[in-house]
Amino acid sequence: MNLATSAAPGGRAASTPLLGDAREPTIFEMSVPGRSAYQLRTTGIPERPLSELIPSGALADSPVPIAEVSERDLVAHFTRLSHRQFSVDLGAYPLGSCTMKYNPKLCDTIAAMPGLADVHPGAPASLTQGWLAILVELEESLCEITGMAAATLQPSAGAAGELTGLLLMGAYHEANGDRRRRVLIPDSAHGTNPASATLGGYDVTTIPTDERGLVDLDALRAALDTDVAGIMLTNPNTAGMFEEDIAEIAAAVHEVGGLLYYDGANLNAILGVVRPGDMGFDIIHMNLHKTFATPHGGGGPGAGPVAVSQRVADFLPGPKAARLADGSYGWITPERSIGRVHGWHGNALVIARALTYIKVHGGDGLRRVSERAVLNANWLRKRISKNFPAAYDRMCMHEVVVTGTELKRQTGAKAIDVAKRLLEEGFHSPTVYFPLIIDEALMFEPTETESLQTLEALAESLDRIADEARVAPENLHAAPRTTPVRRVDEARAARTLVPTQDARIEESG
Ligand SMILES: *Cc1c(COP(=O)(O)O)cnc(C)c1O
Repeated sequence: MNLATSAAPGGRAASTPLLGDAREPTIFEMSVPGRSAYQLRTTGIPERPLSELIPSGALADSPVPIAEVSERDLVAHFTRLSHRQFSVDLGAYPLGSCTMKYNPKLCDTIAAMPGLADVHPGAPASLTQGWLAILVELEESLCEITGMAAATLQPSAGAAGELTGLLLMGAYHEANGDRRRRVLIPDSAHGTNPASATLGGYDVTTIPTDERGLVDLDALRAALDTDVAGIMLTNPNTAGMFEEDIAEIAAAVHEVGGLLYYDGANLNAILGVVRPGDMGFDIIHMNLHKTFATPHGGGGPGAGPVAVSQRVADFLPGPKAARLADGSYGWITPERSIGRVHGWHGNALVIARALTYIKVHGGDGLRRVSERAVLNANWLRKRISKNFPAAYDRMCMHEVVVTGTELKRQTGAKAIDVAKRLLEEGFHSPTVYFPLIIDEALMFEPTETESLQTLEALAESLDRIADEARVAPENLHAAPRTTPVRRVDEARAARTLVPTQDARIEESG
């Protein structure tokens, strides 16, 4: 192994900084036959061919291609790549609906403890009492936070929780001898809601949003009948507005025998303030990775526990951890369980992080999280309203949806141009063009972890971008120009994962 002098492809010494260079070689391009990232000491134990140790049927015909690189080059490669990323550890990440808050490192420290991280999920309860206590305690905490009776920790993420919730809804109606085919979903809902309802075997009826940014009550009443299995609601909704009529909505849906499903992907506005169970909801999923501090994005890991009211509790997935009569912990399966929705017991280390986060904050601390998240969103709403007015300009919850309609009319610069240009300012983009009902939507969720100084800097960047749009809109169309990957054709980039020069486009406006 040659740690000091190995060369990267293209003749560059491995220590040449590549930051800012548009092209980082792949690990295979860096491969040099014979080089390795491990070193085995000489032992005197004789070498034997693999075929003597492993049955020939289990051996591949030829070795699997593995990049041959030194440890030094390997670490440099991934460190360089990590410097090309934007992350919650680097700066503000106001990507609405995603709750990209800063995650305390303590949660990672706890989740990495060998006593938690190195336990096999199939180990018997007698050897995993501590882990089972964690599962039970998190379930109880989530029920207390949401006002529910029982929960499953199995679903792997929000959408998996939604499907679980809809299967529970179906099991509940079926147990009542009732086959219902329709689920009501507002037009502002997250795209996973109609997708999950369809996957759950339901027809979706879309309920319009009224001029207040809330569920249109008359349209809802008109859609209700005994074929409605339930309604899926997000509250505060994706426009950042609290559904003020929730008590009336709950009464109307319950009156026809339907259930209320709460999309609790995001509890950041309501912790310790109001509980879905008290609003009349029967089933809720929550995204531990959003509200309860697991780094997410890029596809995982997540956890989407589902909590339910008493009348749905019997149908929960099993097995689930429980405190037994003798005070020890064990596994139980609810009487009329819909079965498993996960190979084991859920994404355990996300669960460990969430319980850490909840315990460190305590009840009053969680309430402060929500109060600050709502304060930050409203401060930003007011501060940027001149160039980016809120779609519904009154008190919002943890996020604010503003519209770039007027800026586009004046300058030709679209929401996507503003979002891309913001990357050059050192901020992650807000969510754009969602919810679908708001024209040129820019959805900012500053979260509680950003300081007043950071919010002010974000607002100043947005002011600067709006001014620039008026004098040099072409700058916005071409943005971002200072990032490792520049403006891409988004549709093509999603399908062509290896970036090529011609995959970049000059935005024509
Ligand atoms: C993120 C989100 C979801 C989906 O959660 P995943 O964990 O990404 O599957 C559903 N609803 C809302 C409102 C969300 O913000």
